[in-house]
Amino acid sequence: MVAQSAGSLSTTPDCVIVGAGPAGMVLGLLLARRGVRVRLLELHGDFERDFRGDTIHPSTMEMLHRIGLAEDLHRLRHGKLRVMRFVTPSARGISCSSVA
Ligand SMILES: Cc1cc2nc3c(=O)[nH]c(=O)nc-3n(C[C@H](O)[C@H](O)[C@H](O)COP(=O)(O)OP(=O)(O)OC[C@H]3O[C@@H](n4cnc5c(N)ncnc54)[C@H](O)[C@@H]3O)c2cc1C
Repeated sequence: MVAQSAGSLSTTPDCVIVGAGPAGMVLGLLLARRGVRVRLLELHGDFERDFRGDTIHPSTMEMLHRIGLAEDLHRLRHGKLRVMRFVTPSARGISCSSVA
């Protein structure tokens, strides 16, 4: 699958990125913002596989903030994880609070 519309494929890209995971997508965005003509190639045509975005970690949010995407993401419906509880084999739980 090619992320650009078929009409723009006649344009010769400056850079081809293989893989539209988070790394490829962010790299493509940063290069395109600097005027680099990017072609992003992705093997899969859909998201019909294990979902990988259940949690977004603080370090990820910091990166998204630095590239100006955090505010848009915050506007999407989401939950905040404020307490985590791990149950150990001895059945004694370990809780971490104020995670968010
Ligand atoms: C089941 C699961 C759940 C996860 N849940 C979370 C989570 O909740 N929160 C979190 O922060 N992280 C989560 N992760 C981790 C997160 O998915 C990875 O850290 C992240 O996807 C890595 O990004 P990436 O761009 O390096 O690689 P990938 O996401 O693996 O992206 C690589 C892309 O390249 C494509 N590709 C590969 N070969 C080719 C080819 N030859 N031609 C074209 N395209 C190709 C692949 O289809 C893929 O889309 C999860 C991972 C898994 C496996």
